[in-house]
Amino acid sequence: MPVFTDQVIYNEASMQAEVVSVGSELLLGQIVDTNSAVIARHLAAIGLDLYYKTTVGDNLARLAAVLRLALERSQVVITTGGIGPTADDITREAVAVATERELQFSESLMAQIDAFFRARGFKLSPSNRRQAFTPRGAIAVENPLGTAPAFIVEVAERCVITLPGVPREMEHLLVARVLPYLRERYGLKGEIRLRVLKVVGLGESRIGELLADLMEKGLNPTVGTLAHLGQVDVRIAAKGTDAEAARRLIEPVEAVVRARLGDLIFGADADTLEGVISARVQRLGIRVAVAEFGSAGVVAERLSAGLGQGFAGGVILGDPAGATRLGGDLEGGASPEAKARLLAEAVRGWQGVQVGAATVFEGDPGSEPPVTVVGLAVAFHESLESREYRFGGDLPSMKIRTATLALDLLRRTLERVA
Ligand code: ATP
Repeated sequence: MPVFTDQVIYNEASMQAEVVSVGSELLLGQIVDTNSAVIARHLAAIGLDLYYKTTVGDNLARLAAVLRLALERSQVVITTGGIGPTADDITREAVAVATERELQFSESLMAQIDAFFRARGFKLSPSNRRQAFTPRGAIAVENPLGTAPAFIVEVAERCVITLPGVPREMEHLLVARVLPYLRERYGLKGEIRLRVLKVVGLGESRIGELLADLMEKGLNPTVGTLAHLGQVDVRIAAKGTDAEAARRLIEPVEAVVRARLGDLIFGADADTLEGVISARVQRLGIRVAVAEFGSAGVVAERLSAGLGQGFAGGVILGDPAGATRLGGDLEGGASPEAKARLLAEAVRGWQGVQVGAATVFEGDPGSEPPVTVVGLAVAFHESLESREYRFGGDLPSMKIRTATLALDLLRRTLERVA
């Protein structure tokens, strides 16, 4: 039950953490705060609840105030950014102020920083001395990837953990040093495992209906959906006493989801459509050519990135006359789907490869609000598979959707035919 005090809200029952991302460039929108998302995922995986994320600029007073508040309501406060050598890197000072410790110079940290520079043949600048200061009593966390050592300040049973801003350094220190520290100090035993099943071909609300009983509150594992353009992720999250126990909880639920969604699921976790297609294309020793009329290369871009040698190239058409030169004739009253079928075969023949894929965009002048009709087709062996969709919305999102649906049609055709 949350407790409301004068200023802060905390949950008596559970340990809670919060993340403070430091940097004026984050507030100006010059960079996106990916660090706090990475930290959030890792904290979830060790079963530590994250209740707040705050972003604050390079301002000592404001950061110190944010840290004081964070320490009042959370046992674990993790900062990222602002521990570099320059004057606007103020996180170490702010942690010192908020924890009421003075900064102390550490010879051993200075030696580490010095060794890092020597090993790379760089000259140590006087400003790097700043990085050898940490609040009194802090636990120094050596940073093998950069010059900014991280540190942990323990305040009674609470702590502030200060990590660098450079994402690679931050995640390395988090995984190698901070998570083991948190598990050990707070006796965190729970392990959360995630399994993400990736679905193309059904909308989020329809999937929600099909999985409604699994998505009820209070279950373990929990099941949730996350919609992207053209794709929906079904996330199964289980909390167990250890990783193996959590995995065992996921298995039967995954089996139910797979039984209900069947081959709409193209992969899991880190799988991508292009990766799945690439594996099959390589195994079959075939190549794919693409013709795009309207989608302007989005399908080719994803295929070329994923397939390497398996992608033979193709054409991006600006008007129907271009198709005639390919050997197809897009004029006439045929539907976008029929035109895509023609183009898929034409580009396959033109490139002399085994698979042709095509997209055709056409406005529907009769519809209000405006709608684009998208025809997709894939030619492989004797088979010619095709689909037609009607999309509203802006062109960039329509293109992303189209690329995903075209790749999925290619995946299904390859799976069915070969
Ligand atoms: P270092 O001394 O190693 O540079 P630092 O702690 O001073 O570390 P910052 O100067 O705050 O880090 O940021 C360094 C770079 O790291 C930034 O230019 C930015 O590219 C990236 N960065 C910082 N904070 C974040 C964040 N929250 N999410 C993603 N990237 C970030």
